[in-house]
Amino acid sequence: MMSGSAEKICIGIDVGGTNLRFALVDELGKVLFRERRSTEIHQGKEQFLKRFFSVIASLRTWADSSGKEIVAIGAGVPGLISNDGIIYSSVNLLPLEGLNLRELITAAAGLPAIVVNDANASAWGEKCYGAGRSMNSFLMLTLGTGVGSGLVLNDKLWTGCDGVAGEFGHVTVEPDGKPCPCGNHGCLEQYASATALVAEAGEAIQAGGGGALANVPASMLNAEVLADAAHGGDALAKAIFENAGRYLGIASAAAVNLLNLEGIILGGGVAASYDLIVEPMRREILARAFAIPARRVRLVRAELEDDAGILGAAAMALASVKSDLSNE
Ligand SMILES: [Zn+2]
Repeated sequence: MMSGSAEKICIGIDVGGTNLRFALVDELGKVLFRERRSTEIHQGKEQFLKRFFSVIASLRTWADSSGKEIVAIGAGVPGLISNDGIIYSSVNLLPLEGLNLRELITAAAGLPAIVVNDANASAWGEKCYGAGRSMNSFLMLTLGTGVGSGLVLNDKLWTGCDGVAGEFGHVTVEPDGKPCPCGNHGCLEQYASATALVAEAGEAIQAGGGGALANVPASMLNAEVLADAAHGGDALAKAIFENAGRYLGIASAAAVNLLNLEGIILGGGVAASYDLIVEPMRREILARAFAIPARRVRLVRAELEDDAGILGAAAMALASVKSDLSNE
């Protein structure tokens, strides 16, 4: 251990299906240094862990040479993660299922670690440094490949008794709707994720109703292309975002009635089209929830973009060791 004079910093990690993103983060939430690797989970668990820990080693070298001391590691992982760091299930990282990543990090790196669901990490990042700073209780929705969410109640992340709370993307919005990999039908994720929007556009194009999108090859279709078309006035693209906003509003009305939240924060790739989804979302909330909580809840855009998860994981890791540090 270094002397108490070195600045204490944390490693924040965002374990994505495509990329592993690492950052050294200081106590104020400032990113000092970054590393990125491709996840390549198809190469298996051992290769993944080898790459994972090699980056941690290189971050330690950087910290040492900069006179800083890494005191904890926080990682956000997509999937159902127990309160003590076991990856119960992860559709994008199947080889890691059953692994206690927290124990593994602590054993391999010799540092305290926390492992949480990635959307929970993002919600905490926005709470500490972003759009959630002024709110005590909010729901954060991450609209990307899936629909992730994190719930902050009375300034605390609500992870549930098993750690798996906040799966708002799997709230039913259509009882007999599209099948979802979770086993349910008609989950919000099947109507409001980037994947869902692109699939909807693809189906409409195939059926001959493509409009401005008719000439876009299927492989080039993504949420950004759809947003450009919608902003250009394309009727199909506009309807797709309108529909997503409506479903988000239907699900959110339930949360608003249940929890009387101060806000709902929208992040992720689809939230870049905030202007296209927020009105139908707000309309549904006002139409379906009681007036007092419906008028109270603010719909706001996330502020930290891709860094929310890294910063949230780092902040949680730091908080977990803070009481020990103050006793030094
Ligand atoms: Zn589902």
